[in-house]
Amino acid sequence: MSVDVGVPAAVLYPSCPDDIAALLRASSARPSPFPVSARGCGHSIRGQASAARGVVVDMPSLGRLAAGPATRLSVSVEGRYIDAGGEQLWVDVLNASLAHGLTPRSWTDYLHLTVGGTLSNAGISGQAFRHGPQISNVQELDVITGLGEKVTCSKEKNRDLFDAVLGGLGQFGVITRARIPLVPAPARARWVRLLYTDAAALTKDQERLIDIDVEIDTGAVSGLMDYVEGSVLADQGLAGSWRSSFFSEADAARVAALAKEAGGVLYCLEGALYYGGAAGSERDVDKRLDLLLQELRYERGFGFVQDVSYAGFLDRVRDGELKLRAAGLWEVPHPWLNLFLPRSHVLDFAAGVFHGILRQGTTGASGPVLIYPMNRNRWDGEASAVFPEEEDVFYTVGILRSSLPASSDGSQLLRRLEEQNEEIMRFCEDAGMACVQYLPYYAGQSGWEKKHFGPNRWDRFVERKRKYDPKAILSRGQRIFTSPLPLA
Ligand SMILES: Cc1cc2nc3c(=O)[nH]c(=O)nc-3n(C[C@H](O)[C@H](O)[C@H](O)COP(=O)(O)OP(=O)(O)OC[C@H]3O[C@@H](n4cnc5c(N)ncnc54)[C@H](O)[C@@H]3O)c2cc1C
Repeated sequence: MSVDVGVPAAVLYPSCPDDIAALLRASSARPSPFPVSARGCGHSIRGQASAARGVVVDMPSLGRLAAGPATRLSVSVEGRYIDAGGEQLWVDVLNASLAHGLTPRSWTDYLHLTVGGTLSNAGISGQAFRHGPQISNVQELDVITGLGEKVTCSKEKNRDLFDAVLGGLGQFGVITRARIPLVPAPARARWVRLLYTDAAALTKDQERLIDIDVEIDTGAVSGLMDYVEGSVLADQGLAGSWRSSFFSEADAARVAALAKEAGGVLYCLEGALYYGGAAGSERDVDKRLDLLLQELRYERGFGFVQDVSYAGFLDRVRDGELKLRAAGLWEVPHPWLNLFLPRSHVLDFAAGVFHGILRQGTTGASGPVLIYPMNRNRWDGEASAVFPEEEDVFYTVGILRSSLPASSDGSQLLRRLEEQNEEIMRFCEDAGMACVQYLPYYAGQSGWEKKHFGPNRWDRFVERKRKYDPKAILSRGQRIFTSPLPLA
């Protein structure tokens, strides 16, 4: 990315949380404290986990160097929870839970992210409409504040710190343990993709599926789908995501013809129904699926169903990662733009962005464009994460494009993609769409204050910063606070 993140002076490889607490106390005691950033996998795309001229804490070494690594990931079958070190990968949380027939409920699409990293943002995927984001699915945290204090917090104990840290962009403390509730695990998933030729039909069906008050009489199982997402597929500009391996070659040709007929842009509703294990029988799932397929308004003949294991479904992005890595296309710039958009703007957004801005001259870019709705009442307004609060439903739009090295001029394409992202933000602003960024980035404090948080949330964020990290030591790579806070 074209962002100067600055080089850290040192890296700490902690073997226990006390090492991190000692580092933070040492920094805090100095007249000029040095910055400290926890780094999970460093997947954030603009150096948010870096610490220019400070110390980066390599969180994975907690798992590697801990006296008993097993203690960093332990399941209580009786208590129905898993205690996971902040450095643990979600894929390991999944496997440790499944070993006991249990599973967390809320996920990200990609599981090779750390628990502390996603809880510092929100952690979203197609289960969030029902269960909320990952930050709505935490019972307790161990946190080391910017003052080097080790605090256990939850909704019952030290609640303000608990709320601050969830979605807190690493600003208030380092998460060293999270207690995640577990439920009995399903065994398999029916994984469905349905194609649509217009955004109105797609979003109407998506909203029906996430309406958790609506139930159809399936006899045995409640709930329409367990996972609901969606994406935009286009024949150019969005770089051929419809050539996905989900389709056979013959299907891909039919899909391409449909895309052409529809003017170059298709929409795909992606859903999953869980079954087996704790989640009902195969017969039930077939019945549920049949009913749904009759009702949904996708293009007949363009429904695709796969049957996969539950674990395989959740870890589905890994396959794509390995293929991209093998082709040298993983470690490339990712000028991603993620937005939360109130439902009332989604069709105008689709017309202006999917059918307009994104179709202009970005040949050589590749990557999915996601669009799916969530229920606002599954999000906790006390946590630090920012989301549109005005309407019952909001959409996440993820424009997840990579700038491929094979394109004729890589740096020019990257610039073009970044310009397009800015154009999209301007389009939203001009149209009065009250959208906010997810995995947000602003170059300076005024963007954070005015565009991201808004006055009330900003005041609360600053007040919490003053309490838990007054010297602004933590996660300066987010570019929110760059110097100690003046006394209130
Ligand atoms: C391929 C891919 C797919 C993705 N899919 C999704 C998705 O479906 N849904 C979703 O919500 N996100 C998704 N993300 C984004 C992901 O949530 C963020 O990148 C997130 O930052 C997690 O990455 P990480 O664990 O490497 O954290 P890092 O990038 O290392 O850190 C992120 C921020 O959190 C801070 N931090 C890290 N660890 C801790 C800790 N233990 N305590 C306190 N602060 C900490 C860092 O200082 C930094 O500011 C995806 C990312 C990638 C690369």
